[in-house]
Amino acid sequence: MNHDSNNIMVILSSPSGAGKTTITKKIQQKYQSFKISVSHTTRKPRPNEVDGVDYYFISHEKFKKLISEGKFYEYAKIFDNYYGTLKENVDKMIKKNDIIFDIDWQGTQQLSKFKNLKLIKIYLIPPNKNELKQRLIKRNQDSPEEVERRFKAYDKDVQHWKDYDYIVINENIETCYKQIENIISINKNKSFKVSQRAL
Ligand code: 5GP
Repeated sequence: MNHDSNNIMVILSSPSGAGKTTITKKIQQKYQSFKISVSHTTRKPRPNEVDGVDYYFISHEKFKKLISEGKFYEYAKIFDNYYGTLKENVDKMIKKNDIIFDIDWQGTQQLSKFKNLKLIKIYLIPPNKNELKQRLIKRNQDSPEEVERRFKAYDKDVQHWKDYDYIVINENIETCYKQIENIISINKNKSFKVSQRAL
């Protein structure tokens, strides 16, 4: 992957239901330079999701084919479905934009192997488990079984916080967003200064 511009790649991971999607969308709305990396998945779309915007929804067969052709920078099996980031999409985007990835810890570990990437890894956690359960129920997008399954995955997921550069607790969405904004602006600045020095 060629990544010599001063554009940055922000990874935002969290246990399911911690508020990641809301934050990601807010960042993209505010910062023209940021694009969200749209993943491919074998999961079925939720009622409000749009193909090509929230995800590229594809079959298991198609996903397996893309794996065998080496098209992904990273992919993972999560809750029985595959999710992955296509190389081609990222390589095209990073030339002109900063990128924000909404991916899990497995994908974060895989992307971290590319040492030339300017990755900023942020892990978002809910204030407590009870709050997480309420949010999963309230967003009303998954069946009760799926909510339970995602809730149970929390303990395992949260063990990977050590792989990240920043841990942010999402007690209040506005405060949390401001903290993430600060992290981004500090790193964007740093990246700009380094690239200026290289000139
Ligand atoms: P959901 O089904 O709620 O949209 O996503 C489930 C989990 O998959 C979330 O933790 C999300 O961050 C993760 N995810 C989404 N896209 C990707 C991807 O391309 N790669 C990886 N590794 N995880 C992803």
